[in-house]
Amino acid sequence: MCGIVAYIGHKEAYPIIIKGLKRLEYRGYDSAGIAISNNGALSVYKKQGKVSNLEALIAQESVQGTAGIGHTRWATHGEPNDINAHPHYSSDGKIALIHNGIIENYDAIKKELINKGYSFRSETDTEVLVHLVDDISKVEGVWYGEALRIALNHVVGAYAIVAISPDFPDRLVAARKSSPLVVGIGENGEYFCASDASPIVEYTKNVVYMEDEEIAVIDRKEGLKLYNIGDQPKTPYIQKLELELEALEKGGYEHFMLKEIHEQPRSIHDCFRGRLNAEKGWISLGGIRDYEQKMIQANRLIIVACGTSWHAGLVGEYLLEDLARINVEVEYASEFRYRNPIIHENDVVIAISQSGETADTLAALELAKSKGATILGICNVVGSSISRITDAGYYTHAGPEIGVASTKAFTAQVTILTLMALQLAHKKGTISQSRFHELLSELEAIPEKVKQILAKNDHVESISKAYKDASNALYLGRGSSFPVALEGALKLKEISYIHAEGYPAAEMKHGPIALIDENMPVFVIATQGNSYEKVVSNIQEVKARKGKIIAIVTEGDTHVKAMADHVIEIPAADEVLVPLLATVPLQLLSYFIAVMRGCNVDQPRNLAKSVTVE
Ligand code: GLU
Repeated sequence: MCGIVAYIGHKEAYPIIIKGLKRLEYRGYDSAGIAISNNGALSVYKKQGKVSNLEALIAQESVQGTAGIGHTRWATHGEPNDINAHPHYSSDGKIALIHNGIIENYDAIKKELINKGYSFRSETDTEVLVHLVDDISKVEGVWYGEALRIALNHVVGAYAIVAISPDFPDRLVAARKSSPLVVGIGENGEYFCASDASPIVEYTKNVVYMEDEEIAVIDRKEGLKLYNIGDQPKTPYIQKLELELEALEKGGYEHFMLKEIHEQPRSIHDCFRGRLNAEKGWISLGGIRDYEQKMIQANRLIIVACGTSWHAGLVGEYLLEDLARINVEVEYASEFRYRNPIIHENDVVIAISQSGETADTLAALELAKSKGATILGICNVVGSSISRITDAGYYTHAGPEIGVASTKAFTAQVTILTLMALQLAHKKGTISQSRFHELLSELEAIPEKVKQILAKNDHVESISKAYKDASNALYLGRGSSFPVALEGALKLKEISYIHAEGYPAAEMKHGPIALIDENMPVFVIATQGNSYEKVVSNIQEVKARKGKIIAIVTEGDTHVKAMADHVIEIPAADEVLVPLLATVPLQLLSYFIAVMRGCNVDQPRNLAKSVTVE
């Protein structure tokens, strides 16, 4: 959350920073702001709302300068208005900074600074940083970079920071702890800083992912120097980005979300490419090999995640328990970390996070690590914090996901968990050789089947029309389709603001059935499989109360078709793999309903991607 961009070099900073902020807008869009250094002074502009509002504000101005910082905010402390927008700056206008994270002890620091005579403009936690740096710099007689280093030793919380001062026109200073920060190294003394690599990739592929408690002094004449907050120098580890620019564009689609839904045949395929060969009957999740035995013998596998990734974890629980007969628990990372969980050395904790930066998930992993558990990660963003702290990790290779509501990242996470379950089941001998081969072939066929579902785009759009004005919706499924129901409900809530709930179909009669009347759409996953007949009975129960049924059924099903108001057919697949298919029409339904309601599907209100605050 919060997007940070900074530039120092020989080009005009403003257009580079604005373009970068637009790429990072998925991280927050409560307000945007920039500070550009020129001729010994800083020009600061801040505006509530999207980056386009900031652009409109600056349209009449001539902002010049070859060094600057920019921020797009997801507010944690203080409402989203112009004053609380970043950058925040010192009273004399000589130091400005942008921040992603939370300064937890801001209140105590603020009181001290107020006693010393500092006055505060905003309600943010961030503003204490800039006055603290200013104060240390004046009291200790040190330059602002050193003052920032000293200040960070007094700060409790999470931060990615970039600071600028017109008194040091060739420098930027950056620091990170728990919130991500990447430094891009261009040519001829040109440097970039950003929360992720997307604002950097069109200028350079050479990047340094900053580590926790590191400070970077970026000087266009003297180069990049790294230190820890104890002031010991460190050697920057320069990596080559694999990201391509096209992956960050809409590619002709109206929204990133629609593009990402339609990318799923490729993203699922990319996820198992090189990891699975059905013809030869092998599967190999690189990172697992060394931990295979540990996972098989583990006391428990504990999956920690938040939001959509938590739903993927629930699908994983079904798969791993059913196929590999390993005891699995799925936990909300935020609850797990604070409830003094019992963790043994022979537990394996698996974190799932698209960004690999989710603050609660990261903290849950750190806790598990401190108790001696093996920690593994499933994430999409290469080089992310989770991928770096885990003993082994599995990238989903879904490509950048820009739409705030997760789609292709979910199906990729489920694909990794399916591979994991199959590999462990095979090794452990809990499934027969023939079933193993059958499931490998079926998994290989999934991308083609997803394509067939996506071809029903128009049919799904026409069904969506009938429900666009609903106020509530229920989603029902059994077995591994239950988490699919949860995910379907979450998607609708996030982007259309219709209240929706997912339930195991059998639970409906224990409460939610009271809500059903002729205005209630009930989305049911009623594909062929073990619980088909039971789900059909649940559909009857809804119909008896005049609810509207929209059923996801297996191709050729006539039974449910006869009782449902609408059906969406999906190709037949082994029950184990149905979540990968049944999710797709639910994503499309949410998308079309939200578009028809005039909602901003890529940037839904109050939300942001990459939740780097607790
Ligand atoms: N805590 C800061 C603010 O509210 C930054 C928020 C964030 O990084 O999400 O302005």
